[in-house]
Amino acid sequence: MKDTEIIIPVKVAAYEELEASDRRLVDLAREATHRSYAPYSRFRVGAAILLDNGETITGANQENVAYPSGTCAERTACYYAHATYPEAKFVTIAVAARDTDGKEVAQPIAPCGACRQALLEYETLAGHDVRVILTGAKEMFILPSVKSLLPFAFTEFD
Ligand SMILES: [Zn+2]
Repeated sequence: MKDTEIIIPVKVAAYEELEASDRRLVDLAREATHRSYAPYSRFRVGAAILLDNGETITGANQENVAYPSGTCAERTACYYAHATYPEAKFVTIAVAARDTDGKEVAQPIAPCGACRQALLEYETLAGHDVRVILTGAKEMFILPSVKSLLPFAFTEFD
């Protein structure tokens, strides 16, 4: 028996420190929060995915009175992206959120487990790491890949 560790590399940056293309993606994710349909949680989430064909796809959480029928912003965006451009590979995803007062969350939020699993599938399809930018009003967390968000992931591709 031995001990081991999983270390997740995370860059912490202010918005102003991001490269222009990342700032644009963050802007789009923030903008997408306004298209959220969240009458129940009032927690508005937006996601923006940059594809390798140069297109950017956004999504926002869509709730339903039958709660499990709703979908998170990340899955709305990734399913829309792949349904629209099935040949394109994901490059980067940015996620933003506003709290119940309508203000951007101070600290970055992270995708739920189901979204991590869904995003991992598209990272696997891409054949390369897909960067993840988790945004907050004060700082951003930049992760090098989806799999860094989901250690011990369930996958048939390993
Ligand atoms: Zn989710």
